[in-house]
Amino acid sequence: MAAVPVIHPDNQRTQPMTVERTLAILKPDCVRKNLIGEVIRRIQEAGFRICALKMVKLSRQEAEGLYAVHQSRPFFEELTTFMSSGPCVPIVLEKENAVADYRTLIGATDPAEAAEGTIRRDFADSKGENIVHGSDSAENGRIESNYFFPEHVIVANA
Ligand code: ATP
Ligand code: MG
Repeated sequence: MAAVPVIHPDNQRTQPMTVERTLAILKPDCVRKNLIGEVIRRIQEAGFRICALKMVKLSRQEAEGLYAVHQSRPFFEELTTFMSSGPCVPIVLEKENAVADYRTLIGATDPAEAAEGTIRRDFADSKGENIVHGSDSAENGRIESNYFFPEHVIVANA
């Protein structure tokens, strides 16, 4: 009798990976350094689908709203001054496991601690001016995407 392959329950994926949304922002330093094209190239090469994109200059108030979670932190003033200092490029991205995979692609907040080959390691000057933003959870990926783009302008780009 042919042997029946035994699949150990621990090796079976019970939940398929879900498509997540994350909000990337190419920050004002990225725009000033003419790195928009290079950073988008890396994002696309890593398999993310672009579902919405624009260039916008945030007001101080808009920057404060985006980073409201950090309002009591000592760097809040510096962060919101920087984020409203010039145009930036918010981009809605989708992919399976988008939040974690995008954060792997960009690297740690501080470029000195970011892994080799990551966007922040390669291009960022400091912890404050670190080229790109990424959402920190799938829930925030949706909330932050809608901060810039109403649902009806986010396209399915599968
Ligand atoms: P982001 O939310 O922009 O993707 P992050 O999730 O890696 O970055 P957070 O801890 O959420 O890091 O901080 C938000 C942003 O605030 C950082 O990207 C950076 O621009 C700025 N920031 C964080 N810590 C500092 C600090 N110690 N000094 C100056 N700026 C900081
Ligand atoms: Mg963050």
